[in-house]
Amino acid sequence: MSQSAIAIRGLEKTYAGGKRALKGIDLDIPRGSMFGLLGPNGAGKSTMINILAGLVNKTGGSADIWGFDIDAHPRNAKRSIGIVPQELVFDAFFTPFETLELQAGLFGVPKSERRTMELLEAVHLADKAHVYSRTLSGGMKRRLLVAKALIHNPPVLVLDEPTAGVDIELRQQLWDYVRTLHTGGTTVVLTTHYLEEAEALCDRIAIVNQGEIVANDFTSVLLSTAGDKKLIVTVDRDLAEVPAGLGDRAELKNGRILTLTYDKRTRNAGQVLAAVAAAGLGVIDVSTQEADLEDVFLELTRA
Ligand code: ADP
Ligand code: MG
Repeated sequence: MSQSAIAIRGLEKTYAGGKRALKGIDLDIPRGSMFGLLGPNGAGKSTMINILAGLVNKTGGSADIWGFDIDAHPRNAKRSIGIVPQELVFDAFFTPFETLELQAGLFGVPKSERRTMELLEAVHLADKAHVYSRTLSGGMKRRLLVAKALIHNPPVLVLDEPTAGVDIELRQQLWDYVRTLHTGGTTVVLTTHYLEEAEALCDRIAIVNQGEIVANDFTSVLLSTAGDKKLIVTVDRDLAEVPAGLGDRAELKNGRILTLTYDKRTRNAGQVLAAVAAAGLGVIDVSTQEADLEDVFLELTRA
């Protein structure tokens, strides 16, 4: 049995039309992590999630959830995971309360153990418990789906593009709640094509591109492996052009501000500043700029 929350081996999906959406994915999502699956639209994120949810049939490989193989032990696998789908699908003629009660029934949660109102309160929908779901805003529907995914108290919560259609304030509330769940021990997986979201929330990130995992590491490590760093130097006189000797990655702005991009794996700031001094320039001010996740992402998903 796997000690990972989710373990995926050689996962393949070729859709009926011939599109190979997943090309032999290997991925371990550690228990207790807040894990980001980051990738551009069409990368294969939802395909992977929908296979775990039992909504899409894989065409190869294997996956287990909380140690339960999705083929050999589908019921236990399903009980171990709650999934908030990318598409907002549910019955518009049920109230949020009824929606959750129905879902609890499907999972066989005994009446005495149901937490319907508690969950509605947690996602700030208690005052909407008895209105028709079709009258809810997009953000409220998303939060109702989060409550629905949690009804059977699964150890793993997966959110597929959770911020689509959710306004900024409610997004914050949603994140606060997700963080609380994570602190309480729930393993959280979220897919997103927003870098800032993954960078801000996730302790680990896997980057998916064209059906393949192209990076998988701690967020901090991914950030530090981005090679480029910038040194922004204000010099003591106006320049007409970038002085020779500063390399072809130097840019001049406003006559006095030089932006010097260098690969921190092969050079350091001291060497860059020495080159400025060697060009006969005095330095008035210096600041640095690290690569952010966007740089890593662009580097790795460049076609
Ligand atoms: P993501 O969630 O990362 O945006 P998807 O998993 O939705 O990516 O899609 C991956 C690829 O599979 C895309 O090229 C998409 O067009 C294709 N695809 C997704 N669902 C289907 C489907 N039901 N039938 C055929 N192709 C599909
Ligand atoms: Mg998707």
